[in-house]
Order: sequence, then structure tokens, then C-alpha cells
Amino acid sequence: MVLQKHVSGCSVPDPPDLSNQIMSPALWFPFRGLTKLSHPGKKPAQGLLLKSIGPRKIKRKRNQKKGNKRTLGLSSHKFLTLDDVKTSDKRIFLRVDINVPLDPSTHQILDDTRIKAVSDTLARLEDARVVLGSHQSRPGKDDFTNLQPHAEALAGCCNQQVMFVEDVIGPHARERITKVERGQVLVLDNLRFCAEENVDDKPEKLLKTHFVKQLSPLFDLNVNDAFATAHRSQPSIVGLTEALPSAAGRLMEKELKAVSGLLVEPRRPCVYVLGGAKVEDKVPVIEHILTRDKADKILLGGVPAKLFLKAMGQKLSAEDEKEMVGLQADIKKAKSLALKYRDKIEVPVDLAYGDARGKRTDRGIDAPLKESALDIGAKTIEKYSKAVEGAATTVANGPLGVFERDGFDLGTRQVLEAMAKSNGYTVIGGGHLVGLASILGIDERFKHVSTAGGAMLSLLSGQSLPGVDALVRAADRMRNQKPN
Ligand code: ADP
Ligand code: MG
Repeated sequence: MVLQKHVSGCSVPDPPDLSNQIMSPALWFPFRGLTKLSHPGKKPAQGLLLKSIGPRKIKRKRNQKKGNKRTLGLSSHKFLTLDDVKTSDKRIFLRVDINVPLDPSTHQILDDTRIKAVSDTLARLEDARVVLGSHQSRPGKDDFTNLQPHAEALAGCCNQQVMFVEDVIGPHARERITKVERGQVLVLDNLRFCAEENVDDKPEKLLKTHFVKQLSPLFDLNVNDAFATAHRSQPSIVGLTEALPSAAGRLMEKELKAVSGLLVEPRRPCVYVLGGAKVEDKVPVIEHILTRDKADKILLGGVPAKLFLKAMGQKLSAEDEKEMVGLQADIKKAKSLALKYRDKIEVPVDLAYGDARGKRTDRGIDAPLKESALDIGAKTIEKYSKAVEGAATTVANGPLGVFERDGFDLGTRQVLEAMAKSNGYTVIGGGHLVGLASILGIDERFKHVSTAGGAMLSLLSGQSLPGVDALVRAADRMRNQKPN
């Protein structure tokens, strides 16, 4: 099926100029696990690397001065990028993450940020035969659907002819893959319709999956542009990268540069705003950035604020006390962090509750109502907004309140608006927070809007990303093979 373009005006803003701020990721990525694997059906990379940066010359392109961070080519990374490989007429598997919010009943796309974000990579691959794969949600969820609406939206974001096939690795898909022509993009169906794609495993196990065995022989090159899924060790992220010559896509490069750069030399003062529902992914970030002295203030909202208030000995509302049951290990960790970094971790001075009629009522933290706190209070909003306005770098992940409920979006909205107004370097991430910024129409006012939630937090907590580690191993393999 060939899809007509029906989305117009798809433009992606230029990446921010980060030249004074961050270093090339290659210099500091916490790459681990570079174990040697045997590659049964591995494709040789001959003829794929651009001659100008063939093996051994990969480190630095000619006429790039040492220390010039602005012009330092991304070929200096430990993984290859689309600047390093030939793509003309090549059959390329392009893994993206266009898992988007969908209307539960109509399955209409509610926010196409992740789809637009792939357009730079697609523009670079206009001379290739592209087969694009992504997942949408996970089994058991209402939005675990096919990728036809995504393919239709993609058609408006690139110059290629976009087609969709209702299959992933079966004979029908494989036949269509072999027929893709230069200048075409074939979108496979939801990769998670294959059971193997739902399980994280070791690279050597992923190489042996049916998924990798069926797909890898059909491609010349694999391009991973799915930064938001790079924290998963799954067949399409790690398995195909192990089996094929592989490079990072444009979005992957841009995200890694922006997010990982925060752990190098962020401009000070550097303020983090952390909220949302999950505490288990925020506590390791707080620990990592404070231990390495990469932040001056951490402003807490959402459930992480309740956790730290509890850890600091504050009595919470009866409902919030119930929410803390089962979080003993996190509370213990939060207690030791709060003691060690007393002057850096800020908790709310007031919280907002819903009264009997659901109307917003602000109370000091010493006088909680019995219901669950749904937002930070007005005094806290003022305090946090000032801190953000005066910061040279601000990073936000997770909403500060239950913004879905009327009146309880105030804290998140006002702090986001203060960030958008600031002249500093601003980064936001996390599906819910970015979705709200997009609804408010202020998403283009941030210097970097990450398409990731979990991957961004993994990186900020010092973990390596399996998808990126696999790209590094692929580059090592390709360097060791002579180009034509
Ligand atoms: P993100 O997707 O931005 O990373 P999370 O997925 O961690 O954020 O959390 C988003 C959810 O957090 C929202 O559905 C929101 O309602 C919830 N949340 C925010 N503040 C609170 C709070 N005070 N109590 C309970 N839930 C909260
Ligand atoms: Mg979320």
C-alpha cells in the first residue's frame, strides 16, 4: 500500500549551538561491556565506509583542529554515524522510536513529536532503500496497535514514497523488503507483534533470535535512531546491530550529545526539576549528578517530592503515607542523600490537595489534608520558578503534579513557562512532561526536547545504554575490516 502525504509543515528546528557547553560524547561515554561476540551470519562492511574516514582514520577528519569542539566531526565518536557510511542504493534497516500517544478509541495520533524527529535521518537516506521499524506500546495495553497511522504521518515528514506492510518478519514482509527501491521507505508493522522483541537479553542470545536471523540477511546496513529505546537490549536494538554493519542516525547523535553533555560541564548554576510518578528512576539520577557535582539544585515535585519529605521526617497526608508503603529502600537512599546534600535538594514548602468537591486547596507541608497531594503549592511554585529563571542550565523530567486533573497542572505549567522564558540552556524529557509542553505550545522554546524518558534517565544516572554499546562494538568490527 502506498500512502499519500497528508501531514504538512513538518519542520524540525536546528539543534542548539552547544559549542561552549559540551564535549563530543566519544570522549566521555561510560561505555562498558565491549565483549567480543562471535557473529555467525555477520555481513562484512566492505564498500560501506566512506574512504575519507576509513579504518584507523576514523578518529579525526582531516583539517579539524584538536580541541575545536564545534567542528569536531562526529566521526570521532566511538560509533559510526551517517557521515561515515555510504548509503546510496543500500538496503537499510532503520530502527526508530515512534511510539506515540494515541486516542484509545480511534487510535488517532495525539502528538507527532517523535515522528517529526525522524525527518533529518530520512532526509539523509533519500538515496537509500529504507525499511523502517518501530514499536508502539506493549502487549496488553489499549494503544498496542498496528503502525499504519504512523506510516501515514511519516509520509508527510519526508520526500520519499512511504509504504506500509502488515507484517514484521514473515514471508510477506521479507518479500516486500527485497523489493524496496531507492527513494522508498517501507514501514514494517509494530515490531513488538513479534514476541522476541518484548524480551531483554544478552547480545549473544539476541543474535540467535528468529527476528535477527530472518531480517539481517536482507540488509546492507543497520541504522539505529531510536534513542528513546536505547536502554533496551532487544533484537531490533542490539541484535541487528550485532549482526550488521551499523551506524547511529541523526536523532540518536543529537540526543546523546545534548543529554550526555549535561554530565560533562553544564553551565552553572545548573538546576534539575524532577517530578512524575516513579521514584525508582529519579533517585539514581539525583545520586549520580550530586556525587559528581553536576548540579547546584534539585527541585522536587510529584511523587519524588513526597518520598524526600518522608525521608526528611515530614508527616505526609494519610493517603500519601499509603503511597510510601513498599518504598522503604528508596526512602533509606533518599534519607542519606538528603543528609549529605542538605543545601542542594529542595522539597516543596506547600502542597495542593483536592477538597471534598475536588477544588484546589493549598496547605503548608505541616498541615496536610488527608487526601493525596496533587501538586506543589503556590509558594513552592514561586520559589521554583525563581530558581529556574536564574539558572544557566535547567533540566526537567516528570510533571510536578497530576496535571491531567483540572487545576493541578498549575505547578508544572508555571515552572515550564519559567524555563521557557529563561536565557539558559534548557532540556526537558519524559513522555508526560514533553506532551504537556507540546499541548501548551511552548515545546519549541526549550533548547532541547528529548524524545526519551527512560533512556534519558538511564544516561543521567550513569548507566550505559545497550543500544549505544552495540553501535560501538559494530564500529570496532567495521574498523577492523578493510574498505574497498
Ligand atoms: P514522564 O512521562 O514525564 O517521565 P512519569 O511517567 O514519571 O513522567 O509520571 C507522570 C505521571 O506522574 C502523571 O500521570 C502524573 O499524574 C503523575 N504525578 C505527578 N505528580 C503526582 C503526584 N503528586 N501524585 C501522584 N501522581 C503524580
Ligand atoms: Mg510517563
